[in-house]
Order: sequence, then C-alpha cells, then structure tokens
Amino acid sequence: MSKPAGRLSGQVAVVTGAARGIGRAIARRLAQDGAAIVICDLDPAAADEAGAALRKEGLNASATAADVSNAADVDQFASEVAHKHGRLDILVNNAGLVRDGALHKMSDENWMLVNDVVVRGAFNTCRAFAPLLRAKRADGAHRKVVNIASVSGIYGRELSANYCAAKAGLIGLTKALAREWAPLQVNVNAIAPGFIGGTTLTTPTDDGLTAMKQEFFDRVVAHIPIGRGGRPEDVAGLAAYLASAESDYVTGQVIEIHGGLEILKV
Ligand code: NAP
Repeated sequence: MSKPAGRLSGQVAVVTGAARGIGRAIARRLAQDGAAIVICDLDPAAADEAGAALRKEGLNASATAADVSNAADVDQFASEVAHKHGRLDILVNNAGLVRDGALHKMSDENWMLVNDVVVRGAFNTCRAFAPLLRAKRADGAHRKVVNIASVSGIYGRELSANYCAAKAGLIGLTKALAREWAPLQVNVNAIAPGFIGGTTLTTPTDDGLTAMKQEFFDRVVAHIPIGRGGRPEDVAGLAAYLASAESDYVTGQVIEIHGGLEILKV
C-alpha cells in the first residue's frame, strides 16, 4: 500500500541554519509532512550531514552552504533553488546566534554579527526568494514565510541587547512583509520560542558568552509552568502548522511557544 501524501506534498521548503538544533527539527518535520527540503547552513560539512541524515530516513532533502548575512551568497543560493526546483513554497528564516554580554562592554563586532545574521539574513533571503515566493499560483495555494524570532525580542533579556534588538527587528520585518505580501497570498509569521534545550544556543561553552549559560537555562526552566524546557520538536510542530494550508488565514502574527513562561525576569 502506498504511503498517504503529507499535507506539504509537492511543496519545496528552504530552512536556514538547519544543520542542527531547531532548524534541523523543522527541516525534518516539514520533510515528514511531504515537502522537498533545502537545508542551508554556514558550515558545509554540517549541512551535508543533516541532508544525508534526512535522506537516510527516506525523506526528500538536499543541502547548500550559505552565509545568510551575505547577500551575494544568498542570491546565489536562491538561483540554485530556482534552477533546481523552479518554485519555493515555504521559507523558514531560522539561522541565528547569540553573543551575550553587558551592553557597556559590547563590541561593535558582536552587535553587528547578531543583527547581520538575524535581521539582515532574513531580509536577504526574503528579497532573494521574492520572485519565487511572490509568484501567484493558479490553484490559489499560499506561500509561507516563517521567521524564528524569540521571546527575548518581545520581553527583553539582560546581557543580550544585541540579540533582543535583532529579534525585535525580525518581528518588525515579519509584520511589514505580512502586509506587503498578503495581497499575493504569501503569509508571513514569526515564532517566538522560549527556552529550547538541546541546541548550541543553550549549550554551555567555556567562555560563557557564545552560548547561553546552563545555569541560567536551569533557573528559567524551574519557572516554566508546563514543567519542562522546550524541545526543538515543539517549535517544529508550530512551524509545520504555519507552513501548511491550515494557517492560510493567519498572517503578521508572532506566536509565542514557551510552556507558559511569559515573564523572563526570574
Ligand atoms: P543552534 O543549534 O546554534 O542552530 C543555529 C544554526 O544557525 C546553526 O546550525 C548555525 O550554524 C546556523 N547559522 C548561524 N549563523 C549562520 C549564518 N550566518 N548563515 C547560515 N546559518 C547560520 O541554535 P538553535 O537554538 O537551534 O537556534 C535556532 C533559532 O532559534 C535561532 O534563530 C535562535 O535565535 C532561535 N531561538 C532559539 C532559542 C533556544 O532556546 N534555543 C530560543 C528562542 C529562539 P553553525 O553552528 O555552523 O554556526
């Protein structure tokens, strides 16, 4: 008996920063729902490994290395997708990173890096893929942009002004583009995750500045009403809904996913 077609069957999806963490879980979930996935990540070996892992599960996936903060890289990536697939139905802007530190000691480099990857990265991909995303479908099918923001961009977080500003900027981009592209049946929404474990972002490092400290994570998790930290798969489920036709009447929204944690000052 043949497998039933998934709700994203026949669609093409790009997920940035998908070699690991939340992006990888989103790529896997969209592929399980039937989409052909194009993984994009900074690290070519990691991107290839993630693509190969999905194909090993029988899913439809390919991988490309690109730096989303670099417009030329992204334009080249978009041409490759146009050439190979001729369409794009779903764009997930997930690539991101943290460079935490006190504002009065924050370097220009760390301010720019986080903003360049998060806000400029999403701008670069939306612009580069605009010809594919804006092309109206004869069958009326909507195209979807899903931006991975953060609760930090809504509520703020101490020692993280660069990240909070970047994620707030991404939310602004989401709302503006939702209005701009709504007449074309392109939905643009953001997901604002709370504290999601098992990713590089929440894995402690020696200097404690390139990733969130485990101690901070544990302290926050103790206050989450649902009783646990988030998992990449939790975010992936929401992304799959926003990527599907089930959310055709949802646009310009920022959906928080954090187990009930609404105030970060703990
Ligand atoms: P992660 O495990 O570090 O994954 C982020 C991915 O983005 C990595 O594979 C990274 O590649 C890639 N990336 C970084 N810079 C890039 C660039 N310039 N171009 C292309 N890819 C790039 O972190 P995560 O926790 O899964 O985070 C995914 C997204 O969720 C981020 O936007 C993050 O801000 C957001 N988020 C996470 C949490 C959380 O608690 N984890 C909460 C709220 C929001 P390399 O590793 O090779 O650098």
